[in-house]
Amino acid sequence: MSLDLAMGVRYIKGVGEAREKMMKKLGISTLLDLVSFFPRAYEDRTVIKNIDELTIGEAVCIRAAVVSAPQLTHVRQGLGYVKLSVTDESGIMEITFFNQSYLKDTLKQGEIYFFYGKISGDFFRPTMVNPLFEKDKDHGTITGRLMPIYPLTSGLNQRSIVSAIRAGLDKCGEELPEVLPESVIRQYELCRISYAYENIHFPTDFQSLNIARHRLIFEELFTLAIAMKHLRSRRSEAMGTSLKLPDIKEFYAVLPFEPTNAQKRAIDDALMDMMKEQPMNRLIQGDVGSGKTLVAAACCWSAWRSGYQAAFMVPTEVLANQHFNSLTELLEPFGIRVDLLTGSLTAKHKREMHEKLRFGEIDLIIGTHALISQGVSFSNLALVITDEQHRFGVNQRSMLSEKGDSPHVLVMSATPIPRTLALIVYGDLDVSIIDEMPPGRQEIKTYIVGENYRQRINNFIRKLVGEGRQVFVICPMVEEEEDDDEDALVKNDLKSAQKHYELFKNELFPDLHVALVHGKMKAKEKDAAMLSFTNGESDILVATTVIEVGIDVPNAALIVVENAERFGLSQLHQLRGRVGRGKHESFCILFNGETASEATKERLAVMQETNDGFKIAEEDLKMRGPGDFFGSRQHGLPELRIANLASDMLVLSQAQEAAKEILDDDPNLEKSENRFLANEITRLFEINADSLN
Ligand code: ADP
Ligand code: MG
Repeated sequence: MSLDLAMGVRYIKGVGEAREKMMKKLGISTLLDLVSFFPRAYEDRTVIKNIDELTIGEAVCIRAAVVSAPQLTHVRQGLGYVKLSVTDESGIMEITFFNQSYLKDTLKQGEIYFFYGKISGDFFRPTMVNPLFEKDKDHGTITGRLMPIYPLTSGLNQRSIVSAIRAGLDKCGEELPEVLPESVIRQYELCRISYAYENIHFPTDFQSLNIARHRLIFEELFTLAIAMKHLRSRRSEAMGTSLKLPDIKEFYAVLPFEPTNAQKRAIDDALMDMMKEQPMNRLIQGDVGSGKTLVAAACCWSAWRSGYQAAFMVPTEVLANQHFNSLTELLEPFGIRVDLLTGSLTAKHKREMHEKLRFGEIDLIIGTHALISQGVSFSNLALVITDEQHRFGVNQRSMLSEKGDSPHVLVMSATPIPRTLALIVYGDLDVSIIDEMPPGRQEIKTYIVGENYRQRINNFIRKLVGEGRQVFVICPMVEEEEDDDEDALVKNDLKSAQKHYELFKNELFPDLHVALVHGKMKAKEKDAAMLSFTNGESDILVATTVIEVGIDVPNAALIVVENAERFGLSQLHQLRGRVGRGKHESFCILFNGETASEATKERLAVMQETNDGFKIAEEDLKMRGPGDFFGSRQHGLPELRIANLASDMLVLSQAQEAAKEILDDDPNLEKSENRFLANEITRLFEINADSLN
């Protein structure tokens, strides 16, 4: 019978129903999940020392014989301690076990044991308290080795997960399917899969651990690279429309400002792309406020100059309106016909728009998903643009492209991503980076504060509103929810947007206009609240991160973030970018929750040190790893189990090179040596169906 990796964990020796439930919380349902549940750290129990060379505070093994029979002392009913002396050739040491009376008879005088524990006492009389131990002949089982430490949930202890994983690995034996093609294993000198799984959990030493880790990291990045490349290759190979290269000076001449050099470079890149018949596939990456809209406008202008239509899709209605306004301002002077198509139009109005688009009476259409609805067709669509692309699935983007005849594609992202990562996330998209801010941008003053500043901040809000400014207040959650995975303490500390809103509206600022926006509201309500803020009707907007995406309210001068420690740095940077967009001096207040650790405080400090989105992204990636970096899997990047895209760059580039070779040789993974790889890719796509498709 062949190995069934999809087998439920319940059928693994020693697991049963109760543990199955607890494991589920850790994301472990199947045998494969179990053996893929990697340790988060290892305890080094390999160091063996003589008694005369111990240092207080270190954790080590000693190999020693029991000198005298262990003595049990009762303290009170049921409580007591066992004391014994042990010796090796170098000296004598005392060991104490508390509340393990039975050890009196377990440890035998004259026998040799390995003891592992932390050294206490003083220099002259080192001792161990409650050490782990095993007989000399068993050495290597729990002492003298690297012990895995797993990230756990309450109810499961290390010992039970270790034994379940041991049983799982034994079940797999040598039968784990080899996902990596033979040729790759050989070329990159990787170990076998069984060795890798065995040694990532139960390494005999650091060398075997490193060999195993390296192989698993490689495998993870390799399959990811294959998956991403595969995804892109599904894109049509068809030829599109080659545009004439216009004289961009004509466009610049009409602008109210001089484009930055970075903007000019990005525009040149895109215009050159669009001259080719092969459709452009370019990502414009630039920090908040770097002026990406102008690049989009230049491309639309260029399409119009060649007599073609362009479509610009954004994730929300508010953004659509905003872009409509700014693009109209930029492009109408040329006689370009710009229009807006969103879900909230009346059916009649929509039909009219559909007609106009079909007959080519609109040159640039800006809209939400409404653009990809059935009724929409174009006369001659040659350029499609999506803003804040991570909010769209790959499918939605390709649906927009299918409205034209292999149109050029421009994608704009405000989340600065380190280059290495962009390679994976965006596969073979060409990337232009806008790494320069328009002149005159002011720094946003950022402060990290605790609860003791609450009153002062509230006063500050009132003062700014009094001066005519507007204020964002961001909370991490919508409402307090029961969530038994989370520590109750942490939960109580979270400021819910709903509660905060009520507090502001009813108690703190009853005389001001307070609005609320969160992800659980209906799209209509959300848009209405958002609109009331953008057009200045409300003074304070209490919101969750739904407002993170490119909203532009120049009058907003303060953003207050509750429980800032709960957010990723890149996310905080995005949020901060909501202010400082006008001429007013702007501020960002980060409330640090009381339960925040030193590490998170240090992390937040980065926000105070720099305003550079790329630097912040790098820091974020270093500190939190890509899983967290992307928050809720925004970029369609599957969660990585072991690789760290910040520290494993070298492996990443090897993995990409290997992936390219395999796909060049076998584009559809049909060869028999690639069958397990093909299965793995299918599995990846299934698991990540939402984000990858
Ligand atoms: P983002 O990259 O965040 O989308 P926008 O395109 O919204 O940035 O631009 C932010 C603001 O900067 C807008 O108000 C825009 O008019 C202005 N802007 C863009 N480019 C320049 C420039 N070269 N000089 C001065 N202001 C500019
Ligand atoms: Mg923008």
